[in-house]
Amino acid sequence: MFLALLALAAAGNAHAQSCASAEVRALLGEAARRPDGAAFDERRLRWTAIIEAHRACRDHPAEAQALADWAKVALDANQRNEALAAENARHSLAVRAGLERHRAESAQHVGILLMERGENDLAVRRLREAAQALEALGDWSQAADTHSRLSRWNRQSGDYVAALADEQAALAMRRRIEPPPNVWRSLLNLAVLYEQLELHEDSRRRYADALDEAEREGNEANVAVVLTAFAGYLNDFGTVDAAQALAMAERALAIVRRQGDPVQVASALLQTGRAHANLHHLYEADRAYVEGLQLATSASHRAMTAHLNLRHGELAMAQGHFDKALERIEAARVGYESTGNRHRLVKVYAALEELHQRRGDPLAAAQAGRERFRLRDELLGSKATGKLGELLSRFELTEERRRSERLEQEKAVAELTLVAQRSRLQLIYIVAAAIGLALLLLGWRHRTARRLYRLLHHQNQLVMAQAEQLSAANRQLTEQSQRLYRSSITDPLTQVHNRAYGMQRLEEWLAPDPGGRACASVILFDVDHFKAINDRHGHPVGDQVLVAVAQTMCKALPDSAELCRVGGEEFMALVDDDLLRPAVEVADRVRRAVQELQVTARGQRIDVTVSAGVCRAASLPERSAHRAYAAADTALYLAKGGGRNRVVLFGERPAVVRASPR
Ligand code: GH3
Ligand code: MG
Ligand code: MG
Repeated sequence: MFLALLALAAAGNAHAQSCASAEVRALLGEAARRPDGAAFDERRLRWTAIIEAHRACRDHPAEAQALADWAKVALDANQRNEALAAENARHSLAVRAGLERHRAESAQHVGILLMERGENDLAVRRLREAAQALEALGDWSQAADTHSRLSRWNRQSGDYVAALADEQAALAMRRRIEPPPNVWRSLLNLAVLYEQLELHEDSRRRYADALDEAEREGNEANVAVVLTAFAGYLNDFGTVDAAQALAMAERALAIVRRQGDPVQVASALLQTGRAHANLHHLYEADRAYVEGLQLATSASHRAMTAHLNLRHGELAMAQGHFDKALERIEAARVGYESTGNRHRLVKVYAALEELHQRRGDPLAAAQAGRERFRLRDELLGSKATGKLGELLSRFELTEERRRSERLEQEKAVAELTLVAQRSRLQLIYIVAAAIGLALLLLGWRHRTARRLYRLLHHQNQLVMAQAEQLSAANRQLTEQSQRLYRSSITDPLTQVHNRAYGMQRLEEWLAPDPGGRACASVILFDVDHFKAINDRHGHPVGDQVLVAVAQTMCKALPDSAELCRVGGEEFMALVDDDLLRPAVEVADRVRRAVQELQVTARGQRIDVTVSAGVCRAASLPERSAHRAYAAADTALYLAKGGGRNRVVLFGERPAVVRASPR
């Protein structure tokens, strides 16, 4: 069909498309690849045109690539026959033109597709060719996959020796790659191999290892494949592991539904259905099988169709639908015979034996049973198992060696990690120590700083206390000096100013303008007959009289006046002389106050009077302290001479006299 179309397109377009430019071809290729909903036939025509264009140009690599691309497009659209035709054409071309890569890949793809169709002999030939070509190209990954596929085929057809050899080859090739890819696949194949040899413990361990590997490699699709197979293995144990099997199958189903490969979905549905059947969920099991069968049939996957038919038949048998069961199981038998799966045929005959028994047909049951045992003996024959035992022990030995090598490697890695961790730890210790030291230093500095601060503070307080003491001392000194000064200018007996101070003040009062006082007057007082008071009452009473006289004078003088004691019982007053308060009046008021003074001693009243001489500075021809004092003294002398207890103003003619009658 494909070739016919190719020829048709070639006839119509050979001229127009001969040696189409690479650009046009690329565009066409792009358009063809686009999943834009174009009808499949339309896309096929376009691809045919592209391939024909390359052929017309005799561009073999481009033609081979276009065929490969088209095959992929067809496979994606689940057009397996188209894909197979394209890959076959690519294979012939590759062989003719010596395109080794294309030859290897197309042989592999043809092998896979043929095997699906049950054309086993040619499929195995192509796969062997592919394995060799891939090895020659050094594509260990693809070569290993092909060997694994061959191993599966050998296993299914009961050639366990070849199956093990192929799987060993696959595993060896995978381990040539770093990191080794698809180790899970080898482990899975070994698990299935052990399972079929009824070595259940080994088988279960391999399944678990395969699942670990697939999960470690992290490819979801591969995890789904292992999960499906593992679930299949567990389903063989009936209800024992059914719950676990169902969980695995459903997990796988979820993954493959996302990825959309109908054969994978059918496979997961098969195991889901089996798990449901084991758990007596017959309705769910039936639904899963029906959906799986539809998918497998429409994908033309004969092996999967056969599996589902067998299981669906078993289910029908369990439900008592014997006719339906027979129909399904027979379909499975035909399918397995066409795909050459002798191992499965053992199961088919077991199912038929049981079915015939339950249908009440012991002869048919016996025939099925005989066929089953014949096949089983063939598959597990003594010759084959002897050779296999030898191979297995060799294989186990190599596997053990690999296992211990891997353990050694892991140990070395762990040790290296430990060393690295130790050195990291050391570094952490060093850093921590450095930080600790820095903190200590900081702490020490902080403490030192605090100590210094305290010291400073203490010193400061000391200094402040000293300053306080000093200022107290200073205050004391000031007070003392003030006291001293005061006492130096004070008369100790009468507490009025002393003569020295009085003389100094007289100089200042009578200093020339502007320092002195303009209207300064000097008044000299002298206690009358004081000697007689002393004589009559004693010296201490005389002192008492002097004190009383001085106090009386102070009170009688105006605030602006100054008084001092200039000698024994003589006093001098400096007063401002003005019209309102003439110095003579002031002196007379003092005189009268003394006259009125009442001094009593030992019960006796002592009468005291004073005489005063007044000199107004303004009345002097020359302003001088000395002259003023002398003038006042002259006036005082006149007052004494005039009869005492009176005031005489110097320089007035007739002399101004203030006196009280006695
Ligand atoms: P006159 O009226 O002429 O001034 O007579 P008078 O007795 O007051 O004068 P005189 O100068 O003869 O006497 C002054 C006396 O004052 C002599 C002296 O003993 C006495 N006198 C001087 N200073 C003090 C003193 O501080 N205390 C006492 N109690 N008497 C003193
Ligand atoms: Mg005197
Ligand atoms: Mg006197």
